[in-house]
Amino acid sequence: MQGEGEAQLCAWIDYYRDLGIHDFYCRGELKRQASSEAETALPEPSEATHIEAIAASASPVVAPTLTVPPTIQLVSFNKLAPLPAASIPADERDAALRAIQDEIGDCTRCPLAYAGRKKIVFGDGSPVARLMFIGEGPGADEDAQGVPFVGKAGQLLNNMIGAMGLARSEVYIANIVKCRPPGNRVPEPVEANTCSQFLLRQIDLVQPEVIVALGVTAATYLLGVKQSLSSLRGRWHSCRGAKLAVTYHPAFLLRDPRQKAEAWKDLQMVMGELELKPAART
Ligand code: URA
Repeated sequence: MQGEGEAQLCAWIDYYRDLGIHDFYCRGELKRQASSEAETALPEPSEATHIEAIAASASPVVAPTLTVPPTIQLVSFNKLAPLPAASIPADERDAALRAIQDEIGDCTRCPLAYAGRKKIVFGDGSPVARLMFIGEGPGADEDAQGVPFVGKAGQLLNNMIGAMGLARSEVYIANIVKCRPPGNRVPEPVEANTCSQFLLRQIDLVQPEVIVALGVTAATYLLGVKQSLSSLRGRWHSCRGAKLAVTYHPAFLLRDPRQKAEAWKDLQMVMGELELKPAART
């Protein structure tokens, strides 16, 4: 293992050491070099005698207990906690969001804290937004600035929001994880699940009417289902009392601009729900 993979593994190991875990399970059996014939062959008499002598002097060997690593289950945000009994008054939401941010602090709850993170990207936008966009996780630009969707994908998202007849300051934008996964890899379940408690509280506080999940990772964790993006697009889902639509991640649209027309169909579905009029073309 080299480079990024190694750095990632080291970050995990540091994280587990911090938790006091020092022994690690290795999935699968280590491949033996020898052929099966050699494995079953008896050693030469002199070698066998030597081994018996060593065995006699050694303390009894205790067979290691094999543990099956726990599989992390997907749980939809709807099932994570009951909906709040009351909504926070509009003029108290700014402070309430800041209180969540303070609670997050200089977070070390998951391995991403040890994977080269510069800034925690909490979320951005209006605390009374009717529409919330949720992406996957910060990239390099967001990590440097501490604000979601400020890089190239962010510029495209701004254009998408503008085309819907809204200003970026009128919506709320957040991510499944608040720290940059190294090399922009997809967040691991333990990272997403650790972070979900805070995103859930942001959603419950802002109480948007509509949430747009940007890309399959956001959809997977919000809805607690692992399905293809195409099977999730084009229909309504529910999340924390809001209607949820799934569309392409702007970074994907930058790579495959032909899908922009499809993404626009998803946004039109959202605009219909919120009774938004598209911005006049300039
Ligand atoms: N991609 C994301 O999913 N989120 C960001 O904030 C930036 C890029």
